[in-house]
Amino acid sequence: MHSQIPQEGVVFAVNILPFNDTSMDQQPALVKIKTFEFNPLGVNTYVLSDETKECVVIDASFFYADEREVLLNYILDHDFVVKHLLNTHLHFDHLFGINTLASMFELKLECHRADAFLLEDIPGQLKMFGLPGTNADYKPEIGRYLNEGDSITFGNQSLRVFHVPGHSPGSIVFYNESAGCLFSGDALFHSGIGRTDLPGGNYDELINQIQTKLFRLPDETIVYAGHGPTTTIGFEKKHNPFAGMVM
Ligand SMILES: [Zn+2]
Ligand SMILES: [Zn+2]
Repeated sequence: MHSQIPQEGVVFAVNILPFNDTSMDQQPALVKIKTFEFNPLGVNTYVLSDETKECVVIDASFFYADEREVLLNYILDHDFVVKHLLNTHLHFDHLFGINTLASMFELKLECHRADAFLLEDIPGQLKMFGLPGTNADYKPEIGRYLNEGDSITFGNQSLRVFHVPGHSPGSIVFYNESAGCLFSGDALFHSGIGRTDLPGGNYDELINQIQTKLFRLPDETIVYAGHGPTTTIGFEKKHNPFAGMVM
């Protein structure tokens, strides 16, 4: 069933209709989710909007000029008003587009404090992947630190923050309860989890956080991960080779 989950598009309240029901096209949209896969590391950038035209950007990670154009055109062509720049964590590959959007829309990044140390050596992180760049290029200014239980609002939408350390100490995820979707960053992937061998990573902690926080969400919750395809909480509870088999 997970193969029928749309990669992007409009998500409807899952208690109205199952998300693979084609008749849902006639229903009013709650939140529109647009997915972009950017940069050499294949990071998913998400733009969430609703009928008010307010939107948020999660993990703005465009790297090349044509990627930047695609994202900016999407925002400008829809007359979206960007309310928040959110990051699931501060690994360099999830940060490439922040400074551009921050200056264009006069916003500052919102993220968890425990990842701030990662911003001190962005060139060192880049070098591991053979990419050029300096702190001046990519180091964002942080406007607000997010914590477990915080809520982020835009339009008629609300995103709840969960702190799920393990991939990085400051990894957070964003949960839209009314739409039944979760933006999991690099904590939880389709049939995978984030690597835990980078600075501040902790395998046991990540598994524990996934099982005690994310797997408590409804099974039908659609998971939009930091890399790769979408999945659901129910599918990962059953089939995730690292954290699964928790019923
Ligand atoms: Zn990461
Ligand atoms: Zn990543």
